[in-house]
Amino acid sequence: MKKRMKEEIQRRVKGEVKFDEPMSRHTSFSIGGPADCFVIPQDIEDLREILLFARERGVPLKVMGRGTNLLVRDKGIRGIVVRLGRGFEGVKFSKGFLLAGAALRLSTLIKLAASRGLGGLEFAVGIPGSLGGAIATNAGAEALSISQRLESIRMISRGGKIKDLEARDLNFGYRQCLLKGNGIILDAGLRLEHMEEEEILRRMNAFLEKREKTQPLGTANAGCIFKNPDPETPAGLLIEKMGLKGKRIGGALVSRIHANFILNLGRAKAEDVLTLMGVIKEEVKRKTGMDLEPEIEIWGEE
Ligand SMILES: Cc1cc2nc3c(=O)[nH]c(=O)nc-3n(C[C@H](O)[C@H](O)[C@H](O)COP(=O)(O)OP(=O)(O)OC[C@H]3O[C@@H](n4cnc5c(N)ncnc54)[C@H](O)[C@@H]3O)c2cc1C
Repeated sequence: MKKRMKEEIQRRVKGEVKFDEPMSRHTSFSIGGPADCFVIPQDIEDLREILLFARERGVPLKVMGRGTNLLVRDKGIRGIVVRLGRGFEGVKFSKGFLLAGAALRLSTLIKLAASRGLGGLEFAVGIPGSLGGAIATNAGAEALSISQRLESIRMISRGGKIKDLEARDLNFGYRQCLLKGNGIILDAGLRLEHMEEEEILRRMNAFLEKREKTQPLGTANAGCIFKNPDPETPAGLLIEKMGLKGKRIGGALVSRIHANFILNLGRAKAEDVLTLMGVIKEEVKRKTGMDLEPEIEIWGEE
């Protein structure tokens, strides 16, 4: 990025601005080359400013949450990456309704709701991303997804206009939302159910216990790599049947606990993960005729 552009960004943005920032610092995979410019806007005005800068100067801009569904390529990202931070973590409760900022961790939101006797999101307690990321990917587990609890969102367009949208306008599907890649979610209204806190905590623990048994927790990964081809055919089971558990390329390993997870053993390159994904796809196609589609998003320069 040219010096003049860097200076202009620093002049216009009040929040944190970094140049050539390694994305490995901001993804749960701990993988990814540098983003030309990495911005954590302080508030909505700040966010609008960087969006307008990007539009006026024709610079590509991506928005991320907690980077738990991303694989960033080794050459990094040309343009600007915006990560919503503290200024977008507010929460308000009102009679079974909750309004929360997009940057809030989903797990924090679920615990806060539980402390107010509001349940209905326990299924998502082990999903490590932000509320905004969960909505944009329609995150879910156990055949439930965030869209089922969502009433509305407030978003800002690439041109800086703020709009309110109803959940039904977002055309949710399996890990899909109409908004993905377009507008930026600022906050969201969720309708929850009144329940005893104890019961909510019991349900949360049950979901967490199941995760502990079936997922490689405490490792660097990005959750499920591939979408399930259909509800009856989990991608993990397909990969396991191909005998690919424990398959390793460079620093990337197919988890022995859950075959749809690829682990970064420490120094994995995005290229290692992509090659391993290619091997898995090819093997599944050859033996079953099925096409696996990535659930994670792959960002950055090829
Ligand atoms: C250990 C582990 C377990 C996981 N388990 C599950 C699971 O059970 N179910 C599941 O669905 N996922 C799971 N995931 C994947 C991931 O946690 C979810 O997809 C999560 O919702 C992504 O949120 P994020 O904030 O990290 O988004 P990011 O990964 O940062 O971004 C994902 C997408 O959301 C968009 N986005 C983020 N914030 C906003 C915003 N404010 N406005 C508009 N777009 C936005 C980004 O542009 C990008 O397209 C798991 C991941 C890990 C590492």
